[in-house]
Parts: sequence; structure tokens; C-alpha cells
Amino acid sequence: MCKTTEKPELNFDTPLFNYDELEQQLNDYEANPEGYKHDGPSIISVRQGIRAGRAGSVAVGGCLLHHDQVISENMSKANAPYHRLDLHAEMVLLNELEDRLCDNKTPKMRDYTLFTSQEPCPMCLARICCSQVGKTYYVYRDAKSIEAGDQTNYERLPEGFKLLGSRLVIEEADCSPKLKEIARQVWLNSIDHCVDEWLERY
Ligand SMILES: [Zn+2]
Repeated sequence: MCKTTEKPELNFDTPLFNYDELEQQLNDYEANPEGYKHDGPSIISVRQGIRAGRAGSVAVGGCLLHHDQVISENMSKANAPYHRLDLHAEMVLLNELEDRLCDNKTPKMRDYTLFTSQEPCPMCLARICCSQVGKTYYVYRDAKSIEAGDQTNYERLPEGFKLLGSRLVIEEADCSPKLKEIARQVWLNSIDHCVDEWLERY
């Protein structure tokens, strides 16, 4: 097969707001846990996403809960301080948890819940399936973009991973549409230049 050395082009929507404006929107939003049961951890995840974006990585953040209590929050570190392209927010959070559980052979992963501001990519989903973390909820899923398509990333995983994940909950968070839009805008602020940095490494 003849391979082109031309740089691939990925087109993303232009964000409508910058990080400062989005942070303000997040501060102004009043959580409504009665109406949307995942508003609390979703807000934490989006705030961590803004932090990641400002630090130079893809603007995705997340948090981990144990029996509905937030035990940690963190962000993607894939592009900064240097390229560690495995360090998506989900990976950073699961690394911390697995380190914390290093002496526990039966950690009852079903009692943990992972929240992220963006639908996990296939790499992170494979990790999630292996880790057996009980529930994963993502604030936002870019269903319209070329890379997203109609199926979720989970639906597109190889069968073996889906078998591993068959007891797990992996779905969109039950949070307000306002938070979903903020999460999308936050992500759009970062994705163009991060993808470009990766492609410039070729
Ligand atoms: Zn990922």
C-alpha cells in the first residue's frame, strides 16, 4: 500500500468561548442534583478539564468516587509538561487508584465510579474494561464529529474487551445539558493545537 506523508487534516468546530468565559459559566451554573444526579462530579470533571487545557493538554478532566464519595480528581497530562500520550485523564486517575490499591488483591472495583468530561477514547476504554471499575460516566459525547460517528467508542471496541466490560456501566452522565455544552466548548479550546502537536512529531 502506498502511504502518503502528507499531514492528515482533522477539522473541529471553532470554540465559542475561551477558558476564562467557560470557567465563569461553570461558576455561575447552580448544580441541580435533584434534576440531574451527576451534576456534582460532572462539574468537578469539567473544572479539571479547564485546568488540563490551560496546562497545554487536551482539556479533559475527571474524578473518582468510592461509594458515591469523591476520592480524587485529576486531568489529562498527555501533552504537558512533555508528551506522555498515554496520560489521558482516565489513565491518570486509574493509575493513582491502582497504585493506592497495590496491596489489595480483591479491591472490589465495582464500588468505584469514574467520571470524565469527555467520552473515553478506545485506549482508555480498553483500560477501563481491564480495570473492572464498576461505573464510568462521561459528561459529553461528540456524536456529530467525524471521529465520533453513530456508535459509541464502547460499541466499537473489539469483542474481547466488550466481554471484559459486560458487567460494567459505561454511559453518558445524567447531568444538565448546560454542563455538556460547557464540557464540549472546553474540549474544543484544546483539541486543534494538541492534535497539531502530535502530527508535528511525525
Ligand atoms: Zn483516552
